[in-house]
Amino acid sequence: MSDRPDLLIIGGGVIGRCTALFAAHRGLDVAVVDRGVHEESASTGNAGMIVPSHIVPLAAPGVIAQGMKWLTRPDSPFFIKPRADRRLARWLWLFKRHCTADHVQRSVPILRDLSLESRALFDRICGAGHYADAGYCTDGLIMVHRSQKCARDNEYLAETAAAAGLDAESLDAAGVEALAGAVPTGVRGGVLFRQDAHIDPERFLGGLRGECEELGVRFIDGANVEKLSIHDGRVDGVIADGERLAADAVTVAAGAWTPEILRTAGVDIPLQPAKGYSVTLGDCDRTPGVPMIVTDDKVTITPLPDGVRFGGTLELAGFDASRSEHRIRAILAAADDYRPETSGTTSMDEVWSGFRPASPDGLPFIGPAPGVENLYVATGHGMMGVTLGPITGRLLADLITGEAPSLDMSPFEPGRFS
Ligand SMILES: Cc1cc2nc3c(=O)[nH]c(=O)nc-3n(C[C@H](O)[C@H](O)[C@H](O)COP(=O)(O)OP(=O)(O)OC[C@H]3O[C@@H](n4cnc5c(N)ncnc54)[C@H](O)[C@@H]3O)c2cc1C
Repeated sequence: MSDRPDLLIIGGGVIGRCTALFAAHRGLDVAVVDRGVHEESASTGNAGMIVPSHIVPLAAPGVIAQGMKWLTRPDSPFFIKPRADRRLARWLWLFKRHCTADHVQRSVPILRDLSLESRALFDRICGAGHYADAGYCTDGLIMVHRSQKCARDNEYLAETAAAAGLDAESLDAAGVEALAGAVPTGVRGGVLFRQDAHIDPERFLGGLRGECEELGVRFIDGANVEKLSIHDGRVDGVIADGERLAADAVTVAAGAWTPEILRTAGVDIPLQPAKGYSVTLGDCDRTPGVPMIVTDDKVTITPLPDGVRFGGTLELAGFDASRSEHRIRAILAAADDYRPETSGTTSMDEVWSGFRPASPDGLPFIGPAPGVENLYVATGHGMMGVTLGPITGRLLADLITGEAPSLDMSPFEPGRFS
């Protein structure tokens, strides 16, 4: 490892580490700088679901109307903190513009190809020893419902997925129970997505770090990147804690914080932090056989090697780290089903929160930053950062080493909203 790596990656979350892995496999000399993965990264406490089933982007018809209804309910899974913020206003305007049937139709094959390639890469990556304890499991995922309305929503997803060539099967309550064993109260049926999978996200991060280090990647922990160093329209490193770290190329994979770093080079991308919560019960009475998403409450349930994780909510409240007890209640209610004897006693201290990096069109930003040579961007994966980590890493490694990427990169261009 030289003092001037070929590639310096800002951000050691799942996107930064996957990028480091593929770049190092291509023979690049790589360093990863992060100010504190375990304090800040969305990549640690998330639900760990690998979801080719999520081919419909968040920006879709009906989402605005549903969101407006939810805004009036303090316990709803969605919230926007009202504030005068021109970046949020622009993001919402762009989001609204993409809530069309045309956008969904265009995005479905893009997200399908991206996530299926990523899923195949998971099979390859997790076959190696570093990931032996990561709990990678390919038994699928069930979207379950209680109400008729959510049964229809799930049916729409199943039809859309099947039309796109994915494997989706409707199940009645007995079918859900036969697969999942431990089912949340009141579930009447669901849809099984066989190509979905799941993994313990923190252990996956550990495996990535182990393999990267074996390949010679250097991790610079606890260093805060203040700005990019640009000369003659070209990036030549970063300033971290007042010190210059030189590099031939830089990738900004700093999750929800990416825009503030890019702005130091005059690059602007529309991205908002979208906060979510999770709680992990280590000593559950019941453990589901497959992960589930309860469509009615938008709560995820993931069996992990050390327990069961429940997650959900999406709050557009900037980097406000406070926790909303009302909105967390639906997550805790789902957890109570699995540990009834301690029902109502899970404390707010046990709740984890993280900021998803959300783009306005539901597609990630992957590629060269506009106007600055050798500067790359990898963020905006929203609710699918784990799912899309491996393919993001491989596509960026392709671009950086001059190989032809396997997918059309134009939908992911970081400059597409300029
Ligand atoms: C509740 C919840 C559940 C989720 N469930 C799933 C799921 O089931 N499946 C799925 O695919 N996705 C899921 N996600 C989304 C997924 O977690 C994110 O998309 C993904 O973790 C984003 O990864 P990242 O590497 O881009 O960002 P992060 O993991 O946030 O990493 C960014 C890193 O950059 C570092 N950083 C930032 N600024 C600086 C700086 N100036 N200097 C140095 N370092 C810096 C931070 O310390 C951080 O470690 C979920 C998210 C949440 C919140």
